[in-house]
Amino acid sequence: MPIQIIDTHCDALLKLWENPKRSFINDPKIDANLERLKRGQVKIQCFALFVEPFIRQEQKFQVILEQVDLFNEKVVKPNPEIKHIKSWDDIQTLKSDEIGAILTLEGLDGIGDDLTKLRILFQLGVLSVGLTWNQANLFADGVGELRGAGLSTLGKLAVQANNDNKILTDVSHLHINGFWDVIELADYPIASHSNAYTLCDHPRNLNDEQIHALVKKRGYIGIVFHPLFLTGQDFATITDVIKHIEHMCNLGASEQIGFGSDFDGISVYVNGLRHAGQFQHLINELQKHYSEQLVRGFAGENFRRLIPQ
Ligand SMILES: [Zn+2]
Repeated sequence: MPIQIIDTHCDALLKLWENPKRSFINDPKIDANLERLKRGQVKIQCFALFVEPFIRQEQKFQVILEQVDLFNEKVVKPNPEIKHIKSWDDIQTLKSDEIGAILTLEGLDGIGDDLTKLRILFQLGVLSVGLTWNQANLFADGVGELRGAGLSTLGKLAVQANNDNKILTDVSHLHINGFWDVIELADYPIASHSNAYTLCDHPRNLNDEQIHALVKKRGYIGIVFHPLFLTGQDFATITDVIKHIEHMCNLGASEQIGFGSDFDGISVYVNGLRHAGQFQHLINELQKHYSEQLVRGFAGENFRRLIPQ
């Protein structure tokens, strides 16, 4: 049986929003299009809702809704093989010929200071929420904000809302000071697309202490295929991806890591991992280094085990 993949981050919805004429089925500009998900044996794909920082505040929530609408109209409805995972239980009932699609939110900027909007997004099926992208907002500071504050009172209320609704709280993009607040408060922490700082000292990555803390909290880490977060350069190989996996394993995270490709959010690529259709290149390489059980864990079983019950 092929080893199937769960990918905790892609930005295909952003590309569809930028150009709604694109086909989700086979547009070659979409790294995580349907044909490629099938070819790469992706079983569950997370689709991020992401509002670019240049969008005016008054328009941001509207943009989130437009992306949810594109998800429904272009990803889910026309493709019977795609099943919208609206609650964690839906993962158990995925049929063998179905691909699960999960909505995630990358940054709370779009809801202003209105937690009602967050709860409405839960109703629409959002199952994972990151407080920030790289900038600051009313909830927390992102990695690009020099102030480096932790969570605001509002940010803490958002984490509580996540907990109450069994929603993951995503620390990727969050400033390290906010990270430690989330570790204290979140029931279901995840770093959906982050690598090891020890191997690549980019602020988007997690240092060893952070990785240890996520391990202790039953958190999940998705290794991201962005060369900048793997090697610090715009070039990387599958061997570099495996170095980050190995580092996390050495820190005790072998049963808590997986993949958060960032396909469609990156414009430089790991050699041999140009799009979702090439996921099995990584699996083949991993099988040379790790047991079948560990590889199945990285590929998807770890995520399945760690999601809220
Ligand atoms: Zn991101």
